[in-house]
Amino acid sequence: MREEPPQKQQKQWSLDDFEIGKPLGRGKFGRVYLAREIKSKYVVALKVIFKAQIEKYRLHHQLKREMEIQTSLCHPNVLRLYGWFHDSERIFLILEYCYGGELYRELRKTGYLTEKQAATYIASLTQALAYCHEKHVIHRDIKPENLLLDHEGRLKIADFGWSVQSTNKRRTMCGTLDYLAPEMVENKAHDYAVDNWTLGILCYEFLYGVPPFEAESQSDTFKRIMKVDLSFPSKPHVSAEAKNLISRLLVKDSSKRLSLQKIMEHPWIIKNANPTGTCNK
Ligand code: AMP
Repeated sequence: MREEPPQKQQKQWSLDDFEIGKPLGRGKFGRVYLAREIKSKYVVALKVIFKAQIEKYRLHHQLKREMEIQTSLCHPNVLRLYGWFHDSERIFLILEYCYGGELYRELRKTGYLTEKQAATYIASLTQALAYCHEKHVIHRDIKPENLLLDHEGRLKIADFGWSVQSTNKRRTMCGTLDYLAPEMVENKAHDYAVDNWTLGILCYEFLYGVPPFEAESQSDTFKRIMKVDLSFPSKPHVSAEAKNLISRLLVKDSSKRLSLQKIMEHPWIIKNANPTGTCNK
C-alpha cells in the first residue's frame, strides 16, 4: 500500500482503474468491496450503489448531499471519500479503507468496552464532531453501525446520509430511535446539540452494551427519552466519573448539555482516553 491516496486526475475514474478484491459488507443500497487503485497500488473500499435503488427511493438528493459533505471533510476521525464515478447502472464511491470494520461488531463480540477504549472512542468522536460543527455539518445519525475502525483501531465516522450542512435550526425527523435526542423525538427545531446527546448515548452503550433508553416498543423508548429515564446498572467496570459524564450529556435542555470542549476537559476523558486515538488491544 502506498502512502498517497488516489488523487483526482484530469481524467475521470472508471472501474478499469481498480482491481476488485473481497466483499467487505453489504449496505442498504449496495455492496462494499476491498479494491486497489492499479497505478498507485493504494488500497481503498469501493462502495457500489445501484442507480435503480436510488431512483426507487428518490434518494438522489440525499446521496448527492452525502457525497458533497463527505468530500469536503478532512479529519483523522472522519472517513475520507476520495472521489466517485458512475456507469449506466451503478455509482461507485472511492472510500478510505477501514481494516477493523464496524465498531458495532467489536461491541457485540465483547458485550461492552473497557473505559480506556470507550473514552478513546468518545474523545475521537468529540474531536470529529467539533470539526464537523465548525464546518456547519450536523451528523444526526451517529450510531455504532456508522463507526468504523482502521488498522490501528482509530475510529472513523462514516455514512453522512442523514447529515445536514446548515447554520439554521433544523426541523426534520430523522436518525435512529434509540439515539434520538428529546427535541428530535418531539419533532422540534434542533441544532448541533443533538450530536452531544448522542455522545452520551454512545458512551453509555460502549460501557453497558445496550443504549440507555432501550424498551420493548418504540413508544416506550420515546417515553423513556422524554423523561430522561436514565439508570446505571451496577457494573464494577464503570466508574463514577464515566457516569458523571453521561449524566451531563443526557440532559433534556439542549443548551445545558456539556459542550464538546468541556467533554475533552472532563476528568474521565483526561484519565482514560489515548491521546493518539489508536485503540488496538
Ligand atoms: P454501508 O453500505 O456503508 O452500510 O456498508 C456496508 C458494510 O460494509 C459495513 O457494515 C462495513 O462492514 C463495510 N464497510 C463499509 N465501508 C467500509 C470501509 N470504508 N472500510 C471497510 N469496510 C467497510
